[in-house]
Amino acid sequence: MHARPTDLEVVILGAGMSGLCMAIQLQRSGIDDYLIVEKSHGLGGTWWDNRYPGAQVDVPAPAYSFSFAPNPEWTHRFADAAEIHRYQQRLAEQHGLAARMRLGVAITEARFDAQAGRWQLSLDDGSALSARFFVCSTGPLSRPRWPDIPDLASFKGQLLHSARWPAGVDLGDKRIGVIGTGSTASQLVPALAPTAARLTLFQRTPNWVMPRLDRRYGALDRWLARFPPYAALARLAWVQFLELGRRGFDEGTLARRAMTAAARGHLRRQVPDAGLRERLTPRYPLGCKRIIYSNDYFGALALPQSELVTEAITGVTERGVLTLDGREHQLDALICATGFDTTQLLAELPITGLDGRTLGETWRVNPSAYFGLTVPGFPNLFLTLGPNTGTGHTSTLLFIEPQVQHALACMRRVKQSGKRWIDVRPEAFAAQDANVQRRLAGSVWSRCSSWYRNDSGRIIAIWPGFTGEYDRAVRRPDEAAYELG
Ligand code: NAP
Repeated sequence: MHARPTDLEVVILGAGMSGLCMAIQLQRSGIDDYLIVEKSHGLGGTWWDNRYPGAQVDVPAPAYSFSFAPNPEWTHRFADAAEIHRYQQRLAEQHGLAARMRLGVAITEARFDAQAGRWQLSLDDGSALSARFFVCSTGPLSRPRWPDIPDLASFKGQLLHSARWPAGVDLGDKRIGVIGTGSTASQLVPALAPTAARLTLFQRTPNWVMPRLDRRYGALDRWLARFPPYAALARLAWVQFLELGRRGFDEGTLARRAMTAAARGHLRRQVPDAGLRERLTPRYPLGCKRIIYSNDYFGALALPQSELVTEAITGVTERGVLTLDGREHQLDALICATGFDTTQLLAELPITGLDGRTLGETWRVNPSAYFGLTVPGFPNLFLTLGPNTGTGHTSTLLFIEPQVQHALACMRRVKQSGKRWIDVRPEAFAAQDANVQRRLAGSVWSRCSSWYRNDSGRIIAIWPGFTGEYDRAVRRPDEAAYELG
């Protein structure tokens, strides 16, 4: 590190939902000496990256707003990417975050200086920062995963990844291929199929699709939402309702039977063609992969210009995609809706802790953190939405808020103690991690492959319990779990 570092109290990596939440709560607790560093040229995180046609959130918008920042402007129960991005921008404006944000700059190295009790950070513009606390808010869904298909790059048409959608792409009247059948593809396909000359969906695995209980929020809804007690009640009602869905992941529960029946009924009603229905019927237990919520995915596949291809992809040519039956599917555009690399979290960024090891090395076999937040040997480092804090049934914001409070409480403790750093005790970390993995063993998430699991089969993304349980365990840190140095 050559440049003289700028000294700060906190550096936040990432300007997505959790980075914004961290910044706002830092300000509220009187800490103005912080900076958000974001490699993209705009704030928003996943909502900056995922601007593909049809991008939406799949939890009701009142639950996809922070408890301290209700949004009376939502126009639909399920907000689209643009609306969520406007919400994020408004948050940033209301709290004056722009002045504390450096966009279009990446942190290239982070090293903990135990003597000083500070993180020394290098940035790709040649500058350097020094911060007492480092908050990594990159989220698990930030590195696009391209499919491992031979000769993908040889395609001469337009090759796109859903999470890196360029502005101004017009796919009207084009022959479009989509690889993937996850949440992203289920939104892309209905948005593109109606105007496509041809839409070919390459399906490796059929997924469970539930009805989407969407509706427009009219003037009355928006007027009511301006009253804080109403907004709080609406949010609470949705949070409680979503929580019932957690029971749906447990074998033998009424919720599970009801959800499975709803998904089967949805498929039956929406796909009258028995042959197509058979090919769209999942072979794994509901909930093992992320459940899709859509009312128009099946309908889009039934359009005359749409084709569902279930033969395996064997390669890509200049003109299109080859499948096992020997067909070449000629295309103008090939879209990879193939998700994210969730197994090598923060792998590109060397974060070096107390004993000279990087977090990437520590996590090479299994990424894990104490409640997804702190890792022994990496003092004064806080992760948001770290390992095993994802959910398949509710809003991630319900996890972000207690995580931010946990980090703030740890920061306060360091200050009050006059010490230099706080580090999670290895035994507290190991016990909590073992408990999570014990609860996940044999769970529904262990019964198929998905981005929730790594190559060794360990479930690295999912929190096994209810949201309230996580919140209670995390919001106020157990002092005995941490040591000060
Ligand atoms: P994903 O769930 O990981 O799905 C990737 C898809 O690509 C899968 O269908 C996968 O098939 C397929 N695939 C990967 N490699 C392939 C290959 N070589 N050949 C054929 N198919 C291949 O990714 P995603 O749909 O982008 O969603 C990721 C997560 O983002 C979601 O689970 C959700 O948490 C979040 N998301 C949320 C929303 C929302 O509404 N809030 C919207 C979009 C995304 P296999 O299943 O066979 O592996």
